[in-house]
Amino acid sequence: MTGQAQEYDFFPAHVVRTRRLGPTMLRVTFGGEALRGFASGGRDQSFSLFLPHPGQDEPNLPYAQGEGWFAAWRALPADERAVMRSYTVRAQRAEPPEVDVDFALHGTGPDDRAPAGPAAAWAAAAGPGARVVLLGPAVADNRSVSFRPPADADFVLLLADETALPATGGILEHLPAGTRALAWIEVPDADDVQDLPAPDGVELHWLVRAPGAPSGLPTALRAAELPDGAPYAWIAGESGTVKELRRHLVRERGVDRRAVAFSGYWRRGASEDRLREEAYAGQS
Ligand SMILES: Cc1cc2nc3c(=O)[nH]c(=O)nc-3n(C[C@H](O)[C@H](O)[C@H](O)COP(=O)(O)OP(=O)(O)OC[C@H]3O[C@@H](n4cnc5c(N)ncnc54)[C@H](O)[C@@H]3O)c2cc1C
Repeated sequence: MTGQAQEYDFFPAHVVRTRRLGPTMLRVTFGGEALRGFASGGRDQSFSLFLPHPGQDEPNLPYAQGEGWFAAWRALPADERAVMRSYTVRAQRAEPPEVDVDFALHGTGPDDRAPAGPAAAWAAAAGPGARVVLLGPAVADNRSVSFRPPADADFVLLLADETALPATGGILEHLPAGTRALAWIEVPDADDVQDLPAPDGVELHWLVRAPGAPSGLPTALRAAELPDGAPYAWIAGESGTVKELRRHLVRERGVDRRAVAFSGYWRRGASEDRLREEAYAGQS
């Protein structure tokens, strides 16, 4: 496992149940005894999810090979090896051991023009018993939690699309009472708006994107009157939008770039496989 043996582990699991949260969002609850060792750090805790292709009973993932799993997985034909995608832990419960993951079902609706990716399509069809593997935290203090505001931040800014809505929910639950925070969350449908629990002091703005329209997050941020003081900003969603939001904060608002945590959760026109191959090519 690429030198991260203590921090991360593989957790075979199965679907226990699914629940629609809105027209484009589905909660999948995973269970299984192995999840007793899963140790979510909360907030925006992410992990890698391995899924079977249609027609396979379980993800084809040679993780028994330990450190060499990635090379062995990558050497398998793309249509045979497990689909590997990044997701967020929305919630974890101990008894019975369960992990909730909220899937944005892009491309699966009757009016969607773009086809769904394999993960969205898998989730839309998932039923109890479906087998998966999670590569996730074995210790709660791990590098896959990005939301880490410095103690001297005067306020928190959160900017997210629907793929980062689960992470934003986790962050809002984690904020200490009295934290001053402003959050903008964009969803594809008014009925995808959720009743997120947030402490007093959080100003939550929901945006609904018209079908095919660009993100409204940059316009909303530009128009926003921010409190005085030094913010800590956390931005996640489509890569191009994330870049634009970060640039606005750093260049136009003068926010210290070290105080902006940002992550492209997906990129328009590119599958996660392609993004991984690009990153891999950049390293080698
Ligand atoms: C750290 C991290 C945490 C994440 N957490 C979550 C989470 O909790 N819930 C969640 O739903 N997603 C989450 N994502 C995003 C998710 O990994 C991507 O959306 C992923 O591309 C979905 O895989 P797929 O197989 O459905 O599509 P892919 O095969 O990867 O992509 C197929 C096509 O669909 C497009 N596409 C991908 N996602 C979207 C989208 N949302 N809307 C429109 N088009 C899209 C791609 O640009 C591509 O053209 C997270 C990503 C990261 C990096």
